[in-house]
Amino acid sequence: MLTTEQKYIKVNQAIEAGEFYTKTSKKEMTEHTQRLYYDLVSQSNPYNNSLPLSKEEIRELKFELTHDLRFVKEKHYKILAQLKMPVEKVAELKSLDDKIRSMPVVKKEKQKVEIKFTERQATHLGTCQVCGCMHKVSKEDGTIAKHGYTVAWNSFNGECQGSHHLPFEQDKKVKKTYILELDDHLEGLEVPETTGNLRKDEIAVWNYESTKRHLARLIEWHCKLMNEWKVKPLKPIEKWA
Ligand SMILES: [Zn+2]
Repeated sequence: MLTTEQKYIKVNQAIEAGEFYTKTSKKEMTEHTQRLYYDLVSQSNPYNNSLPLSKEEIRELKFELTHDLRFVKEKHYKILAQLKMPVEKVAELKSLDDKIRSMPVVKKEKQKVEIKFTERQATHLGTCQVCGCMHKVSKEDGTIAKHGYTVAWNSFNGECQGSHHLPFEQDKKVKKTYILELDDHLEGLEVPETTGNLRKDEIAVWNYESTKRHLARLIEWHCKLMNEWKVKPLKPIEKWA
């Protein structure tokens, strides 16, 4: 929790900056001003101000004050003065609040950070023909860096078989072979034989069906990409801040 003083400092700093980068930061400042207004009004007790007014009159006047700093108007200042409440402070706060509310929210443009690549470091990313993920492309031979199993079917030794091959942006041979392999898998799937154990059989059929569906979807996805294929540029590795 910020102290009253800290809130004032924050609000003034924000005004000095002249603009907000996010709606949230603007909202945060108007919450501070509203809170400061609330504290000002609630902490000042007009009943102790030895006024030429009855308790009922004070109560009624206080009742007419707005709870929302945005709606503070001339008539409220008059009431504050009449009740010997901190009218200048409220006026000052109101002017801070008006300034905050009139300030623009300007989205900060992201700046590209220059990366100093070493001679051997990859400067581009490419799409793996097998798993479809983006990976670094070797500067030496233009192939996709070694990477692990992701969505690929039947990858061995935890290494995706698209590793060490050209990215899909530049070649589709590996994808073609891979689709044929998937087709073979699908063709070769055998309906499980019944064992007589109902529970076991049920699981076997379920596995068979879901594998079949998965393979069919995978083949469909790869074929679609294959049909739409054309040479594309690789994605440069960039850093933004
Ligand atoms: Zn891959």
